[in-house]
Amino acid sequence: KAKEKGLNEYEVFKPSLEIQTLKEGIIEKELRNGMDLNEFILFYQPIINLYNRQIYGLEALLRWHYLKSVFVSPLEFIPIAEKCGLIVDLGKIVLKQSLESAKIFSNYFNRDFVISINISPRQFSDKEFISSIIQIVENEKIKNLKLQFEITEKVAIENINYAIEVINELKKYNITFALDDFGVDYSSLNYLRKLPIEAVKIDKSFVQEIENEETYFVVETIIKLCNKLGLKVVVEGVETENQYKILKELGCDYVQGYFISKPLNFEEIVKFIKENEFGK
Ligand code: C2E
Ligand code: MG
Ligand code: MG
Ligand code: MG
Repeated sequence: KAKEKGLNEYEVFKPSLEIQTLKEGIIEKELRNGMDLNEFILFYQPIINLYNRQIYGLEALLRWHYLKSVFVSPLEFIPIAEKCGLIVDLGKIVLKQSLESAKIFSNYFNRDFVISINISPRQFSDKEFISSIIQIVENEKIKNLKLQFEITEKVAIENINYAIEVINELKKYNITFALDDFGVDYSSLNYLRKLPIEAVKIDKSFVQEIENEETYFVVETIIKLCNKLGLKVVVEGVETENQYKILKELGCDYVQGYFISKPLNFEEIVKFIKENEFGK
């Protein structure tokens, strides 16, 4: 239709740049407001050890409980928070809230457990990133907690040496790193080789197609490579029993996905931990 009228489709269906900027400005204000009103809350999704079915850790996933009525997906607001810089303060809220929860979770674990937190590129490259993290974690000694930060390859693109430095510095505070969404963007073997990370999370788009032979081979190879490099492998987005079985056969260590559990709110995850850890 747009073409018939001789109009450029892009101009017809995409909001103009001005409208887009206006929208983002409004959302930015709402984000600030939401932070003041404590509208940001964390859900937790279990990451399971494939061999003993024990909980390896929990990924903290942020939701915006907008006007305390609807839950807004991070896919909607994280990119905007990232663009306007609010992600830096939002990240501090996430870390503090995770530690508060971890204190409670630690009552139910008789062994190490991981809390895994997503860190966006803008947070990671903020010059006060390290000091702000240290400030928050130093007063909190939580029994059995292993803190893990999930980063994507984007943080290494501009300056890999800086990324290595940051990771090594935080290692001193017992914080480990996982490379998130691996396989989609750059999938650089150089990053796998050079970044002092502990784990790799294979992007969910792979498991969704694992029944396809090419994808199977790719995942098999990534897992083998990571194992040889001494990296743990987590596969995210496992939704079916068949996918789970295939991953087990492939020698994958850890899985996460709806097949095990959806991200759960605080009360639900406490229940999940109690049920799964009791007597273990
Ligand atoms: P991610 O780090 O890759 O997190 C995994 C996403 O996959 C989550 O989406 C999770 O709910 C979803 N997921 C888990 N299991 C399954 C499954 O079996 N099938 C499918 N289809 N999806 C599954 P969510 O919670 O919407 O988060 C989206 C992204 O937003 C995250 O992707 C992460 O990059 C970002 N994000 C979430 N919380 C935070 C945060 O606190 N800080 C920052 N910087 N980013 C965050
Ligand atoms: Mg993640
Ligand atoms: Mg992520
Ligand atoms: Mg991911």
